[in-house]
Amino acid sequence: MVKEKGEKEWLVPFIAATLYAVVSIFYIVFSDMLVHTLYSDPADITTAQTIKGWGFILVTSLLIFFIIYFWSKKTKESEEKFKTLAETSPFSIFVYREKFKYVNPASEKLTGYSSDELLEMDFWEVVHPDHRDMVKKRGKKRVKGEKIRPTYEFKIVRKSGEPRWILFTGGVIHFDGKSAGLGTALDITDRKKTLQELHEHKQRLEEMVEERTKELKFVNKELESFAYSISHDLKAPLRAMEGFSNILLEDYSDVLDEKGIEYAERIKNSSQKMDKLINDLLAYSRITREEIELQRIKIRSALDKAIKDLKTKIDQKDAEIEVDKDLGEVKAYEPILVQVISNILSNAIKFVEDGQKPKIRIWAEKLDGKVRVMIKDEGIGISPEYHDRIFEVFERLHGEETYPGTGIGLGIVKKGIEKMNGSVGVESESGEGSTFLIELDAA
Ligand code: ADP
Repeated sequence: MVKEKGEKEWLVPFIAATLYAVVSIFYIVFSDMLVHTLYSDPADITTAQTIKGWGFILVTSLLIFFIIYFWSKKTKESEEKFKTLAETSPFSIFVYREKFKYVNPASEKLTGYSSDELLEMDFWEVVHPDHRDMVKKRGKKRVKGEKIRPTYEFKIVRKSGEPRWILFTGGVIHFDGKSAGLGTALDITDRKKTLQELHEHKQRLEEMVEERTKELKFVNKELESFAYSISHDLKAPLRAMEGFSNILLEDYSDVLDEKGIEYAERIKNSSQKMDKLINDLLAYSRITREEIELQRIKIRSALDKAIKDLKTKIDQKDAEIEVDKDLGEVKAYEPILVQVISNILSNAIKFVEDGQKPKIRIWAEKLDGKVRVMIKDEGIGISPEYHDRIFEVFERLHGEETYPGTGIGLGIVKKGIEKMNGSVGVESESGEGSTFLIELDAA
């Protein structure tokens, strides 16, 4: 039972005693008056008063007997309840006032001392020397009624000398008429050890991840530089192949037969294709390696640059490009943004049915802190199952003969947009045209 501070423990016995006094006075006064009205003979009055006195003693004795009987029964029951609870509890429960006054069996198990030994000992003797001062200070504060956290952890020393960590909860109770400390304790040594191990494992894991990431970054950088220099080195023999096939076609066409000319043309085409592939790979690797700084960029100016780069293709296919007036400004790196738009536009021009005139519309909308640019074409479209795949390097949905390409263009788009903290996606159905959506932070 929790007792509130200032509860008046004397109030009930005081009321009972007052009631008893009032009832007794009334009884004595009125019974005397009754005796005097009933009897006039002094001998009869004395006898009646004696009987009345004995009766009063008998009734009060019976009352005292029942009160004490029921009171002690109730106290015993509640004591037994507490005792059973304490004796079977897996928690160590003990009462102390300097020395232990009560300990349950779990306390013996926790400390390694028998209950007889514990009852001869001071509570502080079990507390580990490192924590004795702290526990004493808290105990004093608790007795003074100061507000302190009732539950905390500290170390104890078992009889064998082995230190153990416990989770202790302290309170103050009345014991043998005086206030005493009531403590419960749970051995948390294993839990603490596991937590410590877990913490160490986590730390080791973090160190390992950090180390591996460093290694991986290094290897990646090496690989990128390797790919970059290889691509450069490949260009020289390629230029020789193209140059010599050109010489064959221009200066030796009269000595070559039809087959010879066809082969020379094939060599020229293949070397041109390989040149494009190397250029695309170089662009891709440049985007990965490049250290960039985002700046405020007008989308319209990046778009104009991309359109200028694609002028020949646009004129060849007589493409129609309709652009909304206001496209807004984004945080971007201009060379990459130009390349991204250029790659999407060049696909929009390329992937149309044979003989169809490419029609492209470009507009933008603002959505909380972002700008979304849409590039919509009326070309051959893309089935939804390929919407993710097309952004992977070398993923192409068509044969080289129908639509030539390297399969790197959208890979560059994705890498470039991600590098500028943006995202890219596509909405399309086969045969229904495509809309590429670029989202970047608004400037
Ligand atoms: P490439 O254009 O060199 O083939 P990309 O990486 O630019 O490579 O594109 C990957 C594939 O995505 C293309 O081969 C094509 O199948 C598909 N694709 C890209 N853009 C479009 C588009 N606007 N319309 C239809 N298909 C497209």
